[in-house]
Amino acid sequence: MSADAAAIRAEFPIFTRRPVGFHYLDSAATGQICKAAAEALLEFETQSRANVKRSIYPLAESATEAFDGARREIAAYLGVADADEVIVTSGTTLGINLLAHAFGERLAEGDEVVLSELEHHSNIVPWQLLRERRGIVLRMLPATDDGRLDLEALEQAVSGRCKAISVTHASNVTGAITDLRRIVEAARAVGARVFVDGAQRAPHGPLDVPALGVDAYAISGHKMFGPTGAGALWVRRELLDELPPFLGGGEMIQTVSFERTTFARPPHRFEAGTPPIGAGIGMGAAAKWLAGLDWQAATRRELRLTERILDGLGRIDGVRVYGPSGLQGRIGVVSFEAEGAHSHDICHLLGQRGVCLRGGHHCAQPLMERFGVVATTRASLAPYNDEADVDAMLQGLDEALALLR
Ligand code: PMP
Repeated sequence: MSADAAAIRAEFPIFTRRPVGFHYLDSAATGQICKAAAEALLEFETQSRANVKRSIYPLAESATEAFDGARREIAAYLGVADADEVIVTSGTTLGINLLAHAFGERLAEGDEVVLSELEHHSNIVPWQLLRERRGIVLRMLPATDDGRLDLEALEQAVSGRCKAISVTHASNVTGAITDLRRIVEAARAVGARVFVDGAQRAPHGPLDVPALGVDAYAISGHKMFGPTGAGALWVRRELLDELPPFLGGGEMIQTVSFERTTFARPPHRFEAGTPPIGAGIGMGAAAKWLAGLDWQAATRRELRLTERILDGLGRIDGVRVYGPSGLQGRIGVVSFEAEGAHSHDICHLLGQRGVCLRGGHHCAQPLMERFGVVATTRASLAPYNDEADVDAMLQGLDEALALLR
């Protein structure tokens, strides 16, 4: 498919309704839903709706087939050959909580899990809760001044008691992409697992997750232009098979009696109750749509627009960018602080001009503390953005700062 931004916008219902004056630069929070995903969701909910994995009349069988088909599309997007290694979740948050519970179950007091200063709260808090349950020790990889993971600190952070390193693949604040190869090497040296928060990397092109050498990878459908409410967690087979269940309920069991319950094989063991069927089917359609994009062209444009943002911000007095100054190893997410203006005021004023930005701590308070700020303003790019979006933001920012300072 053409990677021209206008052609891509035509594939998104929201942009056809708002053809001008709408500049959506908040895709790191939630991407807009593509037509393919919206149609798949609507078709399921209005024409093909039945529960999955239960009844055997034709409508129910086709619902199960559509849900499994979505699992296959998501697996293909992640480069995973065996779709049964993919658990359908409600999002990255559930994926990481599942790992912290199922994997965390076998950790003992004093065992260590390494996180990083770049993490979103959803890759910090589940491990802190585990610390309270099991007495594990959390260690922190620091961030560098330009918002990358400080891999020089790996050796010091990863001890013989390390059981897992859980890090983000791309920062939702600085846009920095993590060099997972170095993390995997450090983990392997002490027999630890590597878990990856892929929420921000996944919308920026298809992956070969098993080849990264990691053990688990969590993603959110709504950030990949699918519906809200669905996500996925891939776990390497040899680990997946030995993980105990997390949530208990229907359809994750083999047999249940009051004395004893036995559990279904993965992925069903980890999908208790009715899964997000419609949202999952929509996410599958979004993954298929994404896989069909011309990623060379889309990535080139994303980096060109990132450069345009960085250059534009560099020309405004008193603006400081928190993140890599160059285009190497980053996605199109740019956070900044403008002296003398609060990010919420900036976002409010730009919002009135049709420019959607996010202001605040971005659910990454430890990183804000590292940078010594309470909040930043963030612009985040997706394949539907173009120069007009960036220019509207830069011009709006100039005007907003003239009012606020
Ligand atoms: N990790 C990162 C890096 C994120 O940006 C987000 C969403 N802001 C999450 C995890 C959580 O994703 P979700 O809310 O979809 O579970």
